[in-house]
Parts: sequence; structure tokens; C-alpha cells
Amino acid sequence: MRFYSTRDKEKKLVSASDALLMGLAEDGGLFVPEYFPSIDFSSLDFSSYASVASSVLYPFFSEDIDEDEMKRICISAFNFPVPTRRDGGADTLELIYGPTSAFKDFGARFLSSCMEYILKKRGEKRTVLVATSGDTGGAVASAFFKKENIEVRVLFPLSRVSERQQAQLTTWGENIKSYAVRGSFDDCQKMVKDAFMDESIEGLTSANSINIARLLPQCVYYVYSSYLYFLTYNEMPVFIIPSGNVGNATACYWAKKMGSPIKSITLALNSNRTVLDYLESGVYKKRASIATLANAMDVGAPSNIERLFDLFSDYEEFKNNVSAYSVSDDEIRDTIKREWDEKRHAICPHTACGEYVRRKYLAGLPSIVVATAHPAKFYDIVEPIIGNAVAIPENLFRMLEKKQEYSVIDASYTLLF
Ligand SMILES: *Cc1c(COP(=O)(O)O)cnc(C)c1O
Repeated sequence: MRFYSTRDKEKKLVSASDALLMGLAEDGGLFVPEYFPSIDFSSLDFSSYASVASSVLYPFFSEDIDEDEMKRICISAFNFPVPTRRDGGADTLELIYGPTSAFKDFGARFLSSCMEYILKKRGEKRTVLVATSGDTGGAVASAFFKKENIEVRVLFPLSRVSERQQAQLTTWGENIKSYAVRGSFDDCQKMVKDAFMDESIEGLTSANSINIARLLPQCVYYVYSSYLYFLTYNEMPVFIIPSGNVGNATACYWAKKMGSPIKSITLALNSNRTVLDYLESGVYKKRASIATLANAMDVGAPSNIERLFDLFSDYEEFKNNVSAYSVSDDEIRDTIKREWDEKRHAICPHTACGEYVRRKYLAGLPSIVVATAHPAKFYDIVEPIIGNAVAIPENLFRMLEKKQEYSVIDASYTLLF
């Protein structure tokens, strides 16, 4: 199995490990697999998530990682529960029990283990640079902690992340260094871009969500959850996915392409409606992002859309496969409150977008809403709405107790080296 760039008309192929270490292709496109193998469901061991993961992911990496190693990587990366919770007839795939309580743990943990393995095999080192406005940096720092041959520099805007997010960025030490930048998130991103442009700095790599080794492991929970749902109810579910950069949704389309019993896929957007506008008009136009309560989805120019354009040959095919709805902040608040009032179930603002779409547009159909983060991460939004405290997961609680260490710097990338 090899990979090509979404922008390369000739579809020149690179190996999995090169695609992983490069992150973005040289032409600025995103790597996609040259084909999608169909899954033989009867051969999968559904009693173990890690075992399903290893069987699904191995064909993509078999040139670079042998099967036993892939098993070991999956066992260490996916060491937390992945339940589909049923409550009042409504199903939710809860991707919120990893070390940083959000679905980004799945991709970050798999990527870090694969990268460590490949670098050790090659006898090489890398420095991962990551700019974060919250979620991504925490998942990356946690996933790469103590990984050999890899250093991580996390940049976040000083005084602009929540106290709990900051704890997830700054309490690591060892190979993880944190920098609070006097500036905005955009300044942090610019520093990362500038550092990558500087040819005198060697061995940099990224761990952001466009990396193919972050996206592929996200297919696994759709394979797993859809098949178990199908076995239990003898129906194929619609997945409703809270989306920003549309990586999570892309992984679901890929899982469907590999033969998972998925009826269809619906994107729940916040007020950032770029994908919906495209569906309605047939003309794709990036927008500036709008700040909303579901801030991990505040994306005006979704990076993974290129992968969907690659998967679907034209607008007609795109429209036949993709549906999307936009959810306002008021609707997010109402949905968090209704879930609490009716079920005593606290959900995060992103998950609330998905739940709103189910209630409003897909009521009565077999559906699974994807819960993307634990509500305790967004307590400042959720607690006032439900009028109750949200219990803090153990992992997060431990981090809040630890000593924070970080350097405060001006917004210039040269200060990082
Ligand atoms: C990143 C993120 C999203 C959006 O996922 P995409 O893959 O960018 O569409 C949704 N919810 C949460 C909590 C996130 O962290």
C-alpha cells in the first residue's frame, strides 16, 4: 500500500512511513491511500478493540511495519474503552475516554507510536512543532510523552486557553517543552509555518490532523461501532459527526468504503457553514472562521475537504454522499439543557451539535451521534447551562494537581531553537 497527494495529477506514490514523516505532501496536498482494501469482517476479533484496529490498519502500513509490531502499537495506543452508549433509544459513540478526554487521542496516540517505531528503525530523530488553541496540543503532548527519538514543542497563546487546557499542555516535562506565546493562536501558527520555511532548521515534523497516520486510526471506531450496531439491531446506522476540519467525517467515509455497515453520514457543523454552502451552491468557497461555543469546530477552510473531493469525483457524487446541517450557539445551549433535563446526561458543545441534528432532522432513524469531547473539558460552558457540576475524569484531575512548567516568549520562532 502506498499513498499519493490529493494535488498530484500523476498520483506519484510514497510509502506510509514517508507520508507519515512528511505530514503534508511537497505540493501542499494531503496524502490519501492508493486504494481501500475491503474488510473481511468474519476474520476480525470484536472482543478486543486493539485487535480490530490492528487488523484494519495493518494493510495500510504493511510495507513499513510488521504485523506483530502493529499489534503492539495498537495495544499500547488504544488502551481505553470505546463504548457506544444507548440511552432512551438514542445511541452515542463515546470517543471521550482517552487520556485527554477527546477523540483526538485516537489519532495522536497511534501516530506517536508509529513515528517512534519508524524513527528508531531508521536511526533518525525529529522535533514535532505544534501550535494549539486547546485540544490538539494536549492530545499531542500526552501521546508523545516519553516517546524516544522525538522532541515536542507546544505553542499556545498566553492567557487565551482555559485553565484545564493549560494544565494539559504544561505538566509533562521530559521530551515535551511548552511555550506560552505573547500573541494570538494565529501568531502561534505563523511561528510554526516560519520555522518550517527556515531551511537552516532540520528535522522538523508536524503532528496535526492532516497527517495520514492520524486519520487512518479514526476509521477503526467506525468499523467497530457500525458492525457491533449491525449485529445487535440488524440495521445500518447513520453516523452524525460534529465536524470542523472534517477529518473525523473523512475517516467515516473511508470506513464505509472499506465495507462497514454504515447507511449514510451526516455532518453536524456549528455556524461555520463552508461545507453546507458548498452543498447548496455547488461552488466551494473558503470563509473566515466564526467563533462559537463549539470552538474546536471553528474552521472556515476545512483542510480535509481535499480528501473528500478526491474520494468523490464531482459535485453530484459529493452531494449524493454528504449531508450537513449548521447548528447555532442558541441551539447548542438548548440541546445541552434538554439532554440534561431529559436524561441527566451532560454533553460537550460539539457533541450537542450532533445531538441537535439527530433530534431535528433524523428522529426515528437508526443513528449514532459521535461524542467528540468530555463535557468536563468545557465546564465553563456546560455547567452554567445545566446548573450542575460535571465530574472531572481521573486523567484530567491528575493533571490539574501537577506543577505547570512553560516559558513565556514573544511571537518569534527563532526563540524556540
Ligand atoms: C477537533 C474536534 C472536532 C472536529 O473534528 P474534525 O475532524 O476537525 O472535523 C470536533 N469536536 C472536538 C471536541 C474536537 O476536538
